[in-house]
Amino acid sequence: MSVDTPTEVLPLRQRFTQGLEAPICLTWELTYACNLACVHCLSSSGRRDPLELTPAEARHIVDELAAMNVFYVNIGGGEPMLRPDFFDLVGYAVENKVGVKFSTNGTRLTAERARRLAGMDYVDVQISIDGALASTNDAVRGEGSFAAARAAMDNLAAANFGQFKISVVVTRENVTQLDKFSEIAESYGAQLRLTRFRPSGRGVETWDALHPTSEQQRMLYHWLLERPDVLTGDSFFHLSALGQPLDGLNLCGAGRVVCLIDPVGDVYACPFVIDREFLAGNVRDEGGFAGVWRQSDLFRSLREPHSAGACASCGSYDACQGGCMAAKFFTGIPLDGPDPECVFGHGEEALAARDAGALPGAAIGHSKVDRHGAPIPVPTPVRFRTPARA
Ligand code: SF4
Ligand code: SF4
Repeated sequence: MSVDTPTEVLPLRQRFTQGLEAPICLTWELTYACNLACVHCLSSSGRRDPLELTPAEARHIVDELAAMNVFYVNIGGGEPMLRPDFFDLVGYAVENKVGVKFSTNGTRLTAERARRLAGMDYVDVQISIDGALASTNDAVRGEGSFAAARAAMDNLAAANFGQFKISVVVTRENVTQLDKFSEIAESYGAQLRLTRFRPSGRGVETWDALHPTSEQQRMLYHWLLERPDVLTGDSFFHLSALGQPLDGLNLCGAGRVVCLIDPVGDVYACPFVIDREFLAGNVRDEGGFAGVWRQSDLFRSLREPHSAGACASCGSYDACQGGCMAAKFFTGIPLDGPDPECVFGHGEEALAARDAGALPGAAIGHSKVDRHGAPIPVPTPVRFRTPARA
């Protein structure tokens, strides 16, 4: 239901554009702690934040989601299985009719835990790999991570978990392995899910080298058109400008149908915009999560109609909508400019014209080491509140 307008008079896409009473796709990152250090990690995870939500606070969020009739939550991190109360929280969500889909690197998904998950209703598991071969995967996710992920898949299969998901961030290095990813998924009776590589978190540093080339994007588009069974979660709607729209809503849902709760309770417009610019509030604020979702100035402004800006004269604007806000923001392109991977090359022009010295960078990081491999000291806890709006 639209926040401000009676539903029956509005077409579906317009209702989504104006925002709903509750998010359709809520991502909740349980922890910034992670035992891997993937070079594209959207949340720059590694170290647990000292202000992480307590188990009681986390349960309270579940209570709120249940009261808002949120059907399911996408749990991630960091590595969510590193949270000591992980199973308790998942069980509590399920008991309260909030389904859980969680993403894991698989390193903690033992045979015993796979059996435990197989015994739970309303729980879906997604295991991440970024190469169909160990060499390709481990170059991004760290040595031994492919073997660990495959062992987790084996454990789920042995436990008769059912149809789990295999999630892949498409990069310049693995886009040639799409058929192989499909084969791996088929071998487990699993579903393949592809997501777009956005320049967020540690991806700010690696995007230039790893994002797919224009030619690869076209190949990916045609590959996806032929495989509607491959899940993409609206990752690639900017490619719909090439002709036939890909399945999905084909719009940026940030703050409208999508949002993120991070490990310290900060609420961002989407999982790929962890930056103060897109911080809507905190679940610890008066009014809780529901108050942030329904009342924040940021979300209200994102639900307003936006000008097409530099894309106004593009004949494919209806399909592409100017692309991904996060990809523009972190590459230094104005939010009303073209997507950096615009299929007509306008993104490359915009990248050439930007002020590279004014790039936002990753504002909030939990990496254990900097890009030269030097340890980063644990920061003094800082609480960010809703930023003042102009
Ligand atoms: S900012 Fe990008 S990743 Fe986030 S919802 Fe919009 S299109 Fe999707
Ligand atoms: S010009 Fe803008 S709307 Fe057109 S395809 Fe490129 S990014 Fe999309």
